[in-house]
Amino acid sequence: MKKKVALHNLGCKVNAYELEAMQEMLAEAGYEIVPFAPGADVYIINTCTVTNIADRKSRQMLHKARKMNPEAVVIAAGCYVQAQKDMGKIDDAIDIVLGNNRKQDLLFILENYKKGGGQEKEVLDLEKPVEYESLKLSATGEHTRAYLKVQDGCNQFCSYCIIPYVRGRVRSRKKEEVLEEVRRLTQNGYQEFVLTGIHLSSYGIDCGESLMSLIEAVHEEEGVRRIRLGSLEPRIITEEFAEKLSRMPKICPHFHLSLQSGCDATLKRMNRRYTAQEYLEGCRILRHYFENPALTTDVIVGFPQETEEEFEESRKMIDTADFYETHIFKYSRRKGTRADQMEGQVSEQEKTRRSHVLIQMGKEHKQQYMEKFLGKQVEILFEETAEIQGETWWIGHTREYLKAAVKSDENLENCIKSGTVGGFAEEGVFICAI
Ligand code: SF4
Repeated sequence: MKKKVALHNLGCKVNAYELEAMQEMLAEAGYEIVPFAPGADVYIINTCTVTNIADRKSRQMLHKARKMNPEAVVIAAGCYVQAQKDMGKIDDAIDIVLGNNRKQDLLFILENYKKGGGQEKEVLDLEKPVEYESLKLSATGEHTRAYLKVQDGCNQFCSYCIIPYVRGRVRSRKKEEVLEEVRRLTQNGYQEFVLTGIHLSSYGIDCGESLMSLIEAVHEEEGVRRIRLGSLEPRIITEEFAEKLSRMPKICPHFHLSLQSGCDATLKRMNRRYTAQEYLEGCRILRHYFENPALTTDVIVGFPQETEEEFEESRKMIDTADFYETHIFKYSRRKGTRADQMEGQVSEQEKTRRSHVLIQMGKEHKQQYMEKFLGKQVEILFEETAEIQGETWWIGHTREYLKAAVKSDENLENCIKSGTVGGFAEEGVFICAI
């Protein structure tokens, strides 16, 4: 009888990619993939450690797995376990620890454990140079859009971030390997690709490649209809970069430039290496080369020592940048980072107040941005049907990544159609006629 494996992911898109790659590896080796519920023989939790809360959630999921089947093999993979200096601290309930850069060895480690090879609780020292870990995908949970992991690690050391310590230094995936994956995925019907990594803008710095040449190569692939870029470093947006992108018709006018704060003094304490002005220049350039692009960002409020004046400076800058979407995070302390040691930690109450101010402002900008599309033609890639106010609609995304709903009796899954925006089905979702 086939052994049953249940997997659960926590954290970012890179983790999600790695989980799906592990799942594919297991299925190919004859395991049956089952939902994360009681009854599995093996549980794999791909953990996250980005905040203290992520640590807690990771521990909770590991306990949950153990409870679901006390006899099962429980595997803790990824960043949370990578961050544990002392493996003794990890719950005895865990049988196998699979740190970063070891996910490729999953089958070998699991089989060895089952043969009585003992518990595996070592992680690699990622402060030492390591190769890009070879993981592969030919299908994903989503049926129309595929995330391509092209890079791992980060050399930036932002003062609030633990990631460089648990993911190690920048390692880029070979261009040819990325292209092989794109071909496998296009053969399986995928049309939209999202290039992703821990610090995507660093792609190639370790091997004499460049992100632009990778994008150009993916753009050349037949079957690829749309390309999105994951989170970009603002400084990568130069006239030359944007101009080259704008000459590639498959590039979606949807860019996520991580901001974190619109105040220079706060940015400096965060060890972010750009100023608010430089960031705004990146937005200007993108708006020059793309018509009405969707610009999105992340902002942290209540970073240590963020005064009311600094927050106000940041708020004004974010207002000026005029984002389609702003993801607001309250600063969350993370042990092992420099920011955790800083004096002047901001109270929870104040962080909540500041986040509400930005959330409200973000909603207004989003609405204004979306209204610009009323009466306009958009291109939609359809994904699935959904119920909105008791009715069934086909749902897809425009090139800007705006959600659109269409009434149709046809099966539109994975079809690309153009439509006219007539209004809103609900907040944040267009009604379109095709
Ligand atoms: S760029 Fe900064 S925030 Fe992003 S992973 Fe690297 S250190 Fe963390």
